[in-house]
Amino acid sequence: MRITADREACIGSGLCVLIEPAVFDQSDDDGLVELLDEGPLTDTVGTVEDAVQRCPAAALGSYPD
Ligand code: SF4
Repeated sequence: MRITADREACIGSGLCVLIEPAVFDQSDDDGLVELLDEGPLTDTVGTVEDAVQRCPAAALGSYPD
């Protein structure tokens, strides 16, 4: 699985970072999401899917390798 993050949609809530800090971070400049690992993901698939579902701005997406 690979992951996408739409910084235009992100509102900087930080929820994804709390759920999976190995994949998501927030910019020091604007607080918006930054991807640390775009994939292919293996060990973090479950938590990343959780973050995709729970993002309040629907800014995250996933797609198969
Ligand atoms: S959970 Fe969504 S809105 Fe919040 S920082 Fe992550 S991508 Fe942005």
